[in-house]
Amino acid sequence: MNEKWLLNVKLETDAYTDKDNYSYTNTNTFHLKIKEGKIIEQINSSEPIHDSIEKVDVKGLLAVPTFKEMHNHLDKTYMGLGWRSCIPVKNLQQRLDLEAVELPELADSTKDRASRMIETLLSNGSTHIRTHVNIDPYIGLQNLEGVLAALEAYKGKITADIIAFPQHGLIRDNVPSLMREAMRSGATMVGGLDPAGIDNSIEKSLHTTMDIAAEFNADVDFHIHDDGHVGWYTIDKWIDLVEKAEWGGRSAISHAFSIGEIPTEKATQLAHRLQKNNIDIMSTIPLTKTLPPIDLLDKQGVNVHLGCDGFFDSWGPYGNGDVLEKATTFCEITGKKDELSIAQSLKYITNGITPLNENGEQAWPAIHDQADFVFVDAQSSAHMIARKIERKAVMVNGNIVYGNIE
Ligand SMILES: [Zn+2]
Repeated sequence: MNEKWLLNVKLETDAYTDKDNYSYTNTNTFHLKIKEGKIIEQINSSEPIHDSIEKVDVKGLLAVPTFKEMHNHLDKTYMGLGWRSCIPVKNLQQRLDLEAVELPELADSTKDRASRMIETLLSNGSTHIRTHVNIDPYIGLQNLEGVLAALEAYKGKITADIIAFPQHGLIRDNVPSLMREAMRSGATMVGGLDPAGIDNSIEKSLHTTMDIAAEFNADVDFHIHDDGHVGWYTIDKWIDLVEKAEWGGRSAISHAFSIGEIPTEKATQLAHRLQKNNIDIMSTIPLTKTLPPIDLLDKQGVNVHLGCDGFFDSWGPYGNGDVLEKATTFCEITGKKDELSIAQSLKYITNGITPLNENGEQAWPAIHDQADFVFVDAQSSAHMIARKIERKAVMVNGNIVYGNIE
């Protein structure tokens, strides 16, 4: 029987505000009994334990939910190849032209490079990775094979969405058939990219994407960098297709800069349509582009998730694979300074889970939850986010998959 006790786990219990109006999070330490990867009992750490099953002492570290890295490109990184900076470009097409040259050079090392990226993401607390993988006329399915092989070695530690991503356009060459081949070869989701800016054919690109998704009964995640009203129009048309195909709850829009560039009233209307069709928004919190209005989207009930995007690659020399830092930056640039608003922003990197709910009541973990934790030497989630506290260890199904708490 796979059973153990986690001793002295610090959990958030409630919130309070003192007479001077400073807000805080209360915590307490508990012993958690884990069976077959799930929490089956929680007692106060002052209570004695009488059985003799394995015990792992967490020594008062704070447990928070594990992170979800929801926008990445495991196949693109230069990790393992040493330092290389990027060539400046004037537009997306130039960037794609440069990438096309190096894709065949890099394809042989995809498994090794992706493995290093996975290790980095895991060490920062991410136990789920949504990765886009190039499906293009230059290397076909080679990067998909490398990424699948890398992820295979992390079974039990990392779960993944593997997106067949037509980075160099869908409506060209034999890309639709390559996309179908990718869906038959291990990709779990269908990707898309700028039906206007790259495919120059909004309706055809959207329809082809939906056709492939329907054919393979797969979810969809679209990169939409297209600005302003073009981006808005594309998203609006996609929602029409989602409604027609009854694909609610099965798609996401990545980047979606345009929602931050249209009038607020229009953005609110679009948010309402996104919410109605349960379409998520993925942001990488870029510093040099318009952010989608995450607070507005959240208020309208749209699920927002963050990701690190690709990094150390031909697109950008910066980054570190720490999705917690994305939450920190989001809080900083949107002016969140108090305990509650910082703490609640954790949901953007945990698929909606926060230890306390917005009323300051304990909401996580519950009995029967998976024993998936990030352990940090922090006073609260807000403290961890604001100060980017180091991750001591990561646990999945009751097993340490990164770091050490002994
Ligand atoms: Zn991307």
